[in-house]
Amino acid sequence: MSKVPSITLNNGTAMPQLGYGVWQVEDDQAFTAVGQALAAGYRSIDTAAAYGNEEGTGKALAASGIPREELFVTTKLWNSDHGYDAALRAFDASLTKLGLEYVDLYLIHWPVPAKGIYTETYKALERILADGRAKAIGVSNFLPEHLQRLLGETSVVPAVNQIELHPHLQQEESRAFHVRHGIATEAWSPLGQGRGLLDDPTIGRIATKHGRTPAQVVLRWHLQIGNVVIPKSVTPSRIVENIDVFGFELDGDDLVELAGLDTGSRLGPDPATFDMA
Ligand code: NAD
Repeated sequence: MSKVPSITLNNGTAMPQLGYGVWQVEDDQAFTAVGQALAAGYRSIDTAAAYGNEEGTGKALAASGIPREELFVTTKLWNSDHGYDAALRAFDASLTKLGLEYVDLYLIHWPVPAKGIYTETYKALERILADGRAKAIGVSNFLPEHLQRLLGETSVVPAVNQIELHPHLQQEESRAFHVRHGIATEAWSPLGQGRGLLDDPTIGRIATKHGRTPAQVVLRWHLQIGNVVIPKSVTPSRIVENIDVFGFELDGDDLVELAGLDTGSRLGPDPATFDMA
């Protein structure tokens, strides 16, 4: 079984560099899917209140019998729960659904700049951190301008910013900002949602060269440039394939070729305007 290395977050918390994401997995399906991922060796699970599968995820974690301290559980606060008091209530609800006493990482899912209150929300996360109910706190989909404001108005530097990132959207500016401020970059849709990206001929050629699959090449790229990744699949063979990425290495030529695939195009919404409640 593959051993997933950990990175050390800016508050000393260890986070597996590869985890399992459960967006678009129904609550009852999450029990099976998360169980399969844990059996395959994943120890980090990425869910969110908005995914509607915190209960199924929590049941799978409990049923696995894996000691709590060996697991790394992330959940996220939804857009309708911005604000200090609302955030505290949302966190309680997530923890109850997960059946946990603490989460390892609690994130603000989107900044919703139109509301303009993400710093208030984040202050609730600081409280949750101080109470020991989250081992680390952070954000998701924050642009550098949102991070800049947060850094100016709050005390705890986010441990993580989880953003859309894959070879077609390499996010140079955000990654550089994160490095400057000690924020870990976590890539969502790391496989580009399995759409056109995995059919890219350059990725196909590199995959053939290493005797690996396109998905494995893309995940390896993320790991080698320092990203945390959370690929999603509900197909058992792919769940295993996506964690089997520690037995080979991309070389300098591969990395140069992959760097050339950036088109700057998003699959998901623009964080500057996304405000779905
Ligand atoms: P992904 O890039 O992980 O792609 C998943 C899709 O790729 C699968 O549904 C499947 O169709 C295909 N796939 C997976 N493994 C494959 C393989 N080995 N070979 C071929 N095809 C394969 O996309 P995602 O689910 O959007 O992102 C991963 C996780 O990121 C989510 O589950 C969620 O946890 C997180 N996420 C977070 C946000 C956010 O706003 N913070 C947004 C989207 C996703």
